[in-house]
Amino acid sequence: MDVKLLLNKAQEDKSLLKSDVELIEKAYNFAKKAHESQKRKSGEQYFSHSYETALKIASWQLDSQTIAAALLHDVIEDTGATLEEIKKEFGEEVAFLVDGVTKLGRLKYHEENNGENISATASQKQLAAENLRKMILALSRDLRVILIKLADRLHNMKTLSYVAAAKQKEIALETSEIYAPLAYRLGMINLAGELEDLAFPYLHLNEYKWLIENIKEKYEERQRYSEKVKIIIEKALRENKIEPIKIDFRAKRYSSLYKKLLHYDMNLEQIYDLVALRIIVKTIEDCYAALGVIHNIWPPLPGRIKDYIAMPKPNGYRSLHTTVFCLDNKPTEFQIRTEEMHREAENGIAAHWVYAEQKGKKSKKPSFADKKELVWVEQLRSWQKNFPNPEEFLQSLKIDFLKDRIFAVTPKGEVIDLPAGATPVDFAYAIHTTVGDSCVGAKVNNKIVPLDYKLQSGDLAEILLQKNKKPSASWLDFVKTSIAKKRIKSAAKKTSFGIIKKPPRYTELKIIVDDRMGLLKDISSIISEKHINIHSTHSEPQSPKHHRIKIRCETDSKETMERLILKLKKIKEIKEISYKLI
Ligand code: MN
Repeated sequence: MDVKLLLNKAQEDKSLLKSDVELIEKAYNFAKKAHESQKRKSGEQYFSHSYETALKIASWQLDSQTIAAALLHDVIEDTGATLEEIKKEFGEEVAFLVDGVTKLGRLKYHEENNGENISATASQKQLAAENLRKMILALSRDLRVILIKLADRLHNMKTLSYVAAAKQKEIALETSEIYAPLAYRLGMINLAGELEDLAFPYLHLNEYKWLIENIKEKYEERQRYSEKVKIIIEKALRENKIEPIKIDFRAKRYSSLYKKLLHYDMNLEQIYDLVALRIIVKTIEDCYAALGVIHNIWPPLPGRIKDYIAMPKPNGYRSLHTTVFCLDNKPTEFQIRTEEMHREAENGIAAHWVYAEQKGKKSKKPSFADKKELVWVEQLRSWQKNFPNPEEFLQSLKIDFLKDRIFAVTPKGEVIDLPAGATPVDFAYAIHTTVGDSCVGAKVNNKIVPLDYKLQSGDLAEILLQKNKKPSASWLDFVKTSIAKKRIKSAAKKTSFGIIKKPPRYTELKIIVDDRMGLLKDISSIISEKHINIHSTHSEPQSPKHHRIKIRCETDSKETMERLILKLKKIKEIKEISYKLI
């Protein structure tokens, strides 16, 4: 845990200014002292975790502010240090990053099992994962916050064996469902794979053991084979005046190998890319030329040539892939790319960052805003290429960038998704109608706020309740969600006219679907459009392909139901639909 090592790492590709070095040294000393008396579960000093996180950030060649923030990322949550102190000592930018990471730490993916969550369905869990990913993106107005969080998670995964068994699985699941996909989406393919692999044994222990036992020999044999192929290809490239910068092989990761094996009856013979050869050349022209050289020696498998240079993946990944009938007629995969593409594939969005910084070198340091914008612009550009239809692209932008949504957190760490401008009353109604009805006040980030306060993403909100309280009609002046409006109106009617409502009658919808992410949400929003209250939903797999969803609606009108069904039938994943009054 030497600060020199950290500084060296940070200066691998560039040199630091004196002020940068001082900032990192200061953060190092501050964090070391703040965590002095704390130990990790492994028995190591707590600071080792902060240090490793910062080391990773430095290896991605991020700026000194981010390295300092990584060193300090746990001081607010776990020591007596305050945000004001960080601001005073290290400036606004570092404080902003530390605050962002602290806020993300409040999010929880799986609740402690208090009975309610055991029955959560697969699509509800998917929804939770989707929400959390959105939340993380929305919260992190600055991507560097996510990068620190990812480095933090990586070290936590590496030391997961010291954590209590029950907690291990939860953290591994969260890593595999939230953080690895997030890293992937940011183009950090290497990191995504590493996170997946670290989580894998905790989630599928038996499969992991099976893989280790069965793959070793196969893998060694493949490696010897690749060695032979490498010699041939190196010679052929040189004969064609292509100077390879590097040729190496990469073994397929356990987690992705496992996913693939599931499709092939666990038959290892069927996996062509167990070991893939990776060729790194100087220019894009050389990439295509190298592809030609390979195809000239060995015939390609039809349908396996992929040009991710002309058509990058949505996360920005670029490379040429091909599988050929190689030596002894064995199908073998090649990946061809330039050094720049390689760096991007390894570091994703962090690589763009460095590039932006180097480009701006002449005009001193590029400003904070410039850098941020450039990264987003790059991302958008590569995303846009994958949405030839502009409408689809706009749709994905809306989902991905969530300009009009905010995410607030309950004291239990549950994420509540609300429209921008939503108030604590909307938040309360989103939790439960009874919480909304009996709401008398709210605390946001531990401070009491008025009920018309506008919530911000990442706000930790707590609702103060009073039993038997009736909602107030004046709330209608500021609430944003339709559920809150409706509920307040109906309660106001009840009190003024003294009408006691008949208990509601229910209709149960039974829907067989080809499930996908967000489907349940789509169905329920159509139901809400028809002004039908949903009483409860239930979803379970019916066959490997299909899910059965039961939705209990608060209506007994046949006419309404018929109209609803007509509308629902337009969703292509719905295979069967029926209803009955109960
Ligand atoms: Mn941490």
